[in-house]
Amino acid sequence: VSFRRACVIGHPVAHSRSPLIHKHWLAELKIEGDYVRQDVPPEQIAAFLKNFGGSGFVGANVTVPHKEAAFRALKRPDPVAAHLKAANTLWLENGELNGMNTDVYGFLAHLDESVPDWNRGARSAVVLGAGGAARAIVYALIQRGLEKIYVVNRTLERAEAIAQEFGKGVSAAAWNTLPAKLREASLVVNATSLGMSGQPQLDVDLKRMRADSIVYDIVYVPLETPLLASARARGLRAVDGLGMLLHQAVPGFEKWFGVRPKVSHALRAVLLQDLGAKGRAS
Ligand code: NAP
Repeated sequence: VSFRRACVIGHPVAHSRSPLIHKHWLAELKIEGDYVRQDVPPEQIAAFLKNFGGSGFVGANVTVPHKEAAFRALKRPDPVAAHLKAANTLWLENGELNGMNTDVYGFLAHLDESVPDWNRGARSAVVLGAGGAARAIVYALIQRGLEKIYVVNRTLERAEAIAQEFGKGVSAAAWNTLPAKLREASLVVNATSLGMSGQPQLDVDLKRMRADSIVYDIVYVPLETPLLASARARGLRAVDGLGMLLHQAVPGFEKWFGVRPKVSHALRAVLLQDLGAKGRAS
């Protein structure tokens, strides 16, 4: 098999941890290949994707702000990407650019692994945020049969747009109704950028949540966000954002390099070391 190269496309892209993940798997599986960061400014993304076949890459991950442009470049997106109108994983097949969205898969795979019985009896969830990640999470929770999903967002209109798009079972709720919604919910997910280092704090009081509820924060810098720390302090089950990042990378690697890699403790340790080092440096 010839030497294969994949990349992560974003703008900016210097912060992306995807190379750490894929290079770990390449080394572990002794595969001849490489994975690099590719900074593509917004005005060049359409042309870059159009000529992807000539780029020398076998495929790519796509991050902010290019997931929607990546979707638009596809003739046959997978059903998840088609629904979300956003693709984060691309590969060439017979010269044609193909793509899918693996954020939904990554979100669920990590939740299933962390709390295997989470779905048993879970009826209601609260999703904080109404951006791209929140839409993927609402889609994921509907797939797993949640009956009631409240989308709570600073800009209520964006939450209302999600509720309208997904229909029955999904409602928008104003931030000041959060205490009542949390009392009802068995799962709350932070899909805002609040709580991330450099961003404002996420101010959510978990005291009304039932003792068996789950708090999932998809922010992973820092790994232990104040929200997760507060969940743990109350004895709630806390799920961090790193596992989602690791699991969403699996399907792409398999497409490009032909082997399905494992999300192992060793891989998590590589990322934790990087997050720790960056945390100390800042
Ligand atoms: P996005 O589309 O830009 O959405 C950002 C969300 O955060 C919006 O709902 C926005 O509310 C809210 N927000 C931002 N600043 C706020 C503030 N000061 N006060 C209140 N709300 C605020 O971003 P995204 O792509 O959905 O990503 C959201 C977060 O998830 C990021 O931190 C990203 O790193 C993380 N993420 C993690 C993974 C993973 O694998 N773990 C995957 C994807 C994303 P408005 O609508 O009111 O602006």
